[in-house]
Amino acid sequence: MTFAYRDGVLHAEGVALDALARRYGTPCYVYSRRAVEQAYDEFASALQGRDASICYSVKANSNLALLSLLAHRGAGFDIVSGGELSRVLAAGGDPKKTLFSGVGKTSDEIGFALERGIACLNVESAAELERVRAVAFEKKRRAPIALRVNPDVDPRTHPYISTGLKENKFGVPYAEAEALYRRAAAAPELEVVGIGCHIGSLLLEPSPLVSAVQRIVQLVERLESQGIRLRHIDVGGGIGIRYKDESPRPIGEFVRSILAALGRRPETVVLDPGRAVVGNAGVLVTRVEYIKPGEARNFLVVDAAMNDLIRPSLYGAWHEIRTVREAPDAEALYDVVGPVCESADFLAKDRRLAAREGDYLAVMSAGAYAMSMSSNYNSRPRAAEVLVEGTEARLVRRREMVEDLFALERFPG
Ligand SMILES: *Cc1c(COP(=O)(O)O)cnc(C)c1O
Repeated sequence: MTFAYRDGVLHAEGVALDALARRYGTPCYVYSRRAVEQAYDEFASALQGRDASICYSVKANSNLALLSLLAHRGAGFDIVSGGELSRVLAAGGDPKKTLFSGVGKTSDEIGFALERGIACLNVESAAELERVRAVAFEKKRRAPIALRVNPDVDPRTHPYISTGLKENKFGVPYAEAEALYRRAAAAPELEVVGIGCHIGSLLLEPSPLVSAVQRIVQLVERLESQGIRLRHIDVGGGIGIRYKDESPRPIGEFVRSILAALGRRPETVVLDPGRAVVGNAGVLVTRVEYIKPGEARNFLVVDAAMNDLIRPSLYGAWHEIRTVREAPDAEALYDVVGPVCESADFLAKDRRLAAREGDYLAVMSAGAYAMSMSSNYNSRPRAAEVLVEGTEARLVRRREMVEDLFALERFPG
């Protein structure tokens, strides 16, 4: 277990979280190097023997230290902005193993990606295809492209799909993809290299992905019959993790199901997992500032807030909360809330926690879509980030100082 109690104290690998909280202050994100590598290796070993590429989805957690350790392990990257490309480059990632997704790439971002030799731009509309063509012409570079196709997988059988439906903003409609591929193949500025899809996040079992892959394979076969050959098939990310009592199928089972659906297709298979790599490799450590009993509800007011971890406020997401010092469950129920001036500022509701002022709590499963979605709302400096490896801990992002928050601001006079 990466995060477990030893001698009554919650540890990250071999390091006690209360010691880290005292050394680096709170709120503080703590990541386990081993957990990240183990999750990545599950993908890698399930793909062994198959021509494949794992492109970690940077938006899940974009800390340079994590990007660097994944790059060293051989990962490519899936990015959604020029800023993320700069991070990948700064971390030593290979642009030739990097895919650029997203519905709203600007000309500047497309140009930057082409100059750096990106592996593929995942084009999401006819208008974007035209834009990529124009930028490639101007830069005198041939742009490697794939279409992100929306497979419109039936939502009734798979209710947790959230980005692969007709009504979502993502991807090219399935019915229009063929014509758009023909247009792309005819443009000298473009090099058609692949096809992509990404049907949504938090999938607990492979069948929606399998349906999507089957639809994509049908399209690939039709393209092939028209002489349009692809080098890769990108099946996206979306593999879920356990936050509460969910039982997602193991990563290896997802991968095997995807490979089975691809059958004997010769293209390189690309996976771009985010949450499944880092989600359960991180926790957010926070300190109880006040205990505030109330008539209707009791509150634990902590020093982390929605600006540090917005998932509960934004999606009603459930994160387990543990006391860093092991304690029996309390009688009272608490809402764990932060200091931000919004009623939506909560980390958890109705939890039995035995905590006193000054105690540390760990918000579990906070490795993905946590720090990367943080903000400075209420002029709150962002948390520190620490990477643990065995019994060693290293600061991989210093806590912001208040001066950092207004360093870019100027008086008009
Ligand atoms: C966000 C995203 C992913 C990662 O999704 P997870 O649910 O974190 O695995 C993969 N591919 C694309 C195109 C994405 O936008």
